[in-house]
Amino acid sequence: MTEKTALVTGAARGIGLATTQLFLKEGRRVAMIDRDAEALHQSAEGLEGALPVACDVSDPDQVAAMTRQVAGEFGRIDALVNNAGVADFRPLEETDFATWRQVMATNLDGVFLMSQAAIPHLKTVRGAIVNVASISGLRASTLRVAYGTSKAAVIHLTRQQAAELGDHGVRANCVAPGPVDTKLALAVHTPQIRAAYHDAIPLNRYGQEAEIAEVIVFLCSDRASYVTGQTIASDGGFDATGVGLP
Ligand code: NAD
Repeated sequence: MTEKTALVTGAARGIGLATTQLFLKEGRRVAMIDRDAEALHQSAEGLEGALPVACDVSDPDQVAAMTRQVAGEFGRIDALVNNAGVADFRPLEETDFATWRQVMATNLDGVFLMSQAAIPHLKTVRGAIVNVASISGLRASTLRVAYGTSKAAVIHLTRQQAAELGDHGVRANCVAPGPVDTKLALAVHTPQIRAAYHDAIPLNRYGQEAEIAEVIVFLCSDRASYVTGQTIASDGGFDATGVGLP
């Protein structure tokens, strides 16, 4: 086991859990963060090197306390993966303000709060940040005003982080996944959306959690030591086609 560590939000399932498993395989200790305490502890069972800590990333006090706990137990934070996210697929005129705020609270405020809390620790080890956005942040659509806008903001926040933190040797990058069969996608992808994605994606399929995790872990590693401020679409070629989002 190396002494390196990673902190992954939204780690109880989906892309966050796959990322945790890959980091562990590469020998890092991993702080698994999720607001669903029960699912988190179930997922962490038997994962050697994992430290599950329940926390809502949209709550400043919880984020501060959790980061203190993780830094205290690990002694260092080498990578921050801002992966926790929620989705809502509605157009502007049908999105109520409470839903808009809920999506922004996790997807955007959460990235802001987690980054502020972790940056002092990342600076001491010249660490890395990876933010998980979405192809919905690269393209507009007739749906998902809150989700897409939050993810577009995360893409900009990544560039901001890269600009601010480069002097300290801290890199910040973004991964924009295409559709992946997780609980999040199952809740919002109608059969019509699924069919349209299959047609629009050059590789003609949904991605898998582990395929997104590979890109995240690479960007956190020294193998990506001269890459910062970038958004990498891991989307089966969708963004390259110019076809509209279903
Ligand atoms: P998922 O729903 O399977 O997992 C998300 C996890 O985040 C859950 O365990 C949930 O409890 C946790 N979470 C949500 N809000 C939180 C909060 N405020 N604080 C702490 N934990 C919170 O979803 P997923 O598909 O694995 O999504 C992971 C990331 O990937 C998200 O940011 C999502 O927007 C992005 N993404 C997913 C897809 C897709 O098709 N699945 C596509 C593009 C981008």
